[in-house]
Amino acid sequence: MISVQSLTKRYGDLTAVDGISFDVAPGEVLGLVGPNGAGKTTTLRCLAGIIRPSAGSVLLGGHDLEHQAVEAKRTLAFIPDEPQLFDYLTVEEHLRFIARVYGVADVDQRIGPVLEELELGDKRKSLPDELSRGMKQKLAIACGLLHDPRTLVLDEPLTGLDPGGMRRMRATIAARARAGTAVVLSSHLLTLVEELCTKLFVIRRGRCVAYGPLSQIVEAHPELAGRSLEDIFLALTGEGEGGNGVPRPA
Ligand code: ATP
Repeated sequence: MISVQSLTKRYGDLTAVDGISFDVAPGEVLGLVGPNGAGKTTTLRCLAGIIRPSAGSVLLGGHDLEHQAVEAKRTLAFIPDEPQLFDYLTVEEHLRFIARVYGVADVDQRIGPVLEELELGDKRKSLPDELSRGMKQKLAIACGLLHDPRTLVLDEPLTGLDPGGMRRMRATIAARARAGTAVVLSSHLLTLVEELCTKLFVIRRGRCVAYGPLSQIVEAHPELAGRSLEDIFLALTGEGEGGNGVPRPA
């Protein structure tokens, strides 16, 4: 379970995220979408405990991220769009290191399947410098999935992957959700969002403009019935024709 209440993040005078709230139950996939600068990455970084909110709370797996940080982060995998790797650790050493940090007991049994799933089986002994961009992204994903996280936060998870890698990544996210993981993913790829997400959170200038399953969002905006997700997104974020968007839901 991921629960966000009245989350606010200010950078100086700029309020990047302004009092947003949402819940993601086990098995749900929330799509966090919005135009450039809307506050998506700021939100994800607050969820991952990388930056501290100015106000509001984040619960991961029932643990308050501020007051029970270790328990909360133990449930989490955060996969950023830019893989953060250690220059002097091989692929296998990355996984062993992560296993120690998270207290994964059966690491020898897990490493093989995770590397196979992400097609890194023949790169066990390679350093990050010897990997392609997509392979680095796959290694970051492998590190995230190794400890079977109950909460999963992904920022543009398909960046750098080839078509086969994208397909497998979509299948991996869907399988994790089916197994009971609560997932938040942010992406500008609306086809990915449409395929995987059970509900949407549309953010603009740090504020919620729509939240819920797509069918509910459309119900609240009958003028959008039958339109593509791209049209709906552009209308809700005020980026469509005319640029005025549609009224905010009450
Ligand atoms: P994109 O789709 O372009 O990645 P985003 O929705 O992820 O955008 P954020 O990166 O969260 O947007 O940025 C939200 C706002 O906060 C922007 O106006 C941005 O300039 C500002 N911002 C982000 N990080 C910082 C920072 N470290 N210091 C000051 N302002 C920041």
